[in-house]
Amino acid sequence: MVVVDPGHGGADGGLADPRGGIEKTAVLRLAKELAGTLGDDFNSILTRDDDYGLSPGQRAGIANQARAEAFISLHAGTCKYPNRNSITIFVRKNDAWRQSGFCRGIYADAAAWIYNQAAYQEASRRLARLLASSFARFMPADVKVSVRQAPILVLRGVRAPAVLVEIGMLLSSPGEGEPTARRLPEAFAEALKRFLGKD
Ligand SMILES: [Zn+2]
Repeated sequence: MVVVDPGHGGADGGLADPRGGIEKTAVLRLAKELAGTLGDDFNSILTRDDDYGLSPGQRAGIANQARAEAFISLHAGTCKYPNRNSITIFVRKNDAWRQSGFCRGIYADAAAWIYNQAAYQEASRRLARLLASSFARFMPADVKVSVRQAPILVLRGVRAPAVLVEIGMLLSSPGEGEPTARRLPEAFAEALKRFLGKD
């Protein structure tokens, strides 16, 4: 089971492009296309299939309840990485302060779920690497693909290999006509097949 998480939704539109594209809509469209592409090979669900908001905890909860084998959160660029010709794959950064023991004991079991992702770091990095090599094959050579670590909120509660993907060209092409963006579902699907051992 692959859980695809279209970022934002409802009142939270995400980034807006001056030409009219809006992130919450662009990522939902891609999520549906990806689910359609995956449908031939294995099951997937979306955390949201319409225009409404979800908290990071709700998104993680849907993945955990579905016993996700992989969780992919889709976004269409950030202020920090505004390059339209880039795809950045984020894995959650280690909770280093916790591992150091500095706060051990202060944060009790009630909050333990927020460290779910810590057990999947190696697998999440493997998923990120497979996605990166798939994007490199499917995308034109001038698309810059990179893997980064960041303290991504939505990933921390997920009990599965999990990544967040920022796709720069998604927002710049709100219409149908962008050939680069059209290859994205295939690229995701190929990496996921390899990750889940179904190729
Ligand atoms: Zn976003």
